Amino acid sequence: MDNIILIAPPAAGKGTLAHMLHEKYALPHISMGDLLREASSGDSSEAKNLAIEMQSGRLIADDIILSLLTKRIMMPDCEQGYILDGFPRDIDQAIAYEKLLAKLNKSLGKVISIYVSEDVAMKRVTGRMICSNCHTVYNAYIEESQPRVAGICDECGGHLEKRSDDNVETFRIRFQTYLENTAPLLQYYEKQGNLYQVNNDISKELAFNELEKIITGGETND
Ligand code: AMP
Repeated sequence: MDNIILIAPPAAGKGTLAHMLHEKYALPHISMGDLLREASSGDSSEAKNLAIEMQSGRLIADDIILSLLTKRIMMPDCEQGYILDGFPRDIDQAIAYEKLLAKLNKSLGKVISIYVSEDVAMKRVTGRMICSNCHTVYNAYIEESQPRVAGICDECGGHLEKRSDDNVETFRIRFQTYLENTAPLLQYYEKQGNLYQVNNDISKELAFNELEKIITGGETND
């Protein structure tokens, strides 16, 4: 299967859709945010500095990003394709990624832009809860996304947590950063003929359906 890049503003449901694709097609889901959170969880001064930068909502330096990404996509489970979520975030990262792909003899695949309005995104951010065990995403403010028992994952019984960077102030900075740095990528990939679009304002089921048509070339198996 082709590699997939998902591009979206914060809280567009990108992580949820990537997780659904991972479950159905067994493609590794590489979330740059998760790779960074893992790298920032240690006691070293690098890890602590990284945690501070992430909480500020600013983008992390490209050398750190590329080194984490290179290690991850060289793992054997990425040989048959992978879903990239949260990378590239700007044109510089897109160019660096193309060089990396050429070196590793891998191809870019399909770039999918997920659309969501700012209002819907804000609601998703401030109510978002993630299972610490299986990473299923819930939302305290959206009825169909609430867990059956508050604070507990329906899927595995794991404990639900709020991400420390999911607050209104950080959201505003991240949304602005997206418009300034990441949105120009859409034009960049459109010119290359690699760009596809999915609307996730209504429901994740509709969005997933559109996504499947794109990655399978129109055929889905249910
Ligand atoms: P996310 O989980 O994708 O919302 O990312 C959380 C934070 O990690 C962002 O606010 C940035 O500080 C950082 N981050 C994630 N992906 C990247 C990237 N591709 N380049 C730079 N910083 C990133």
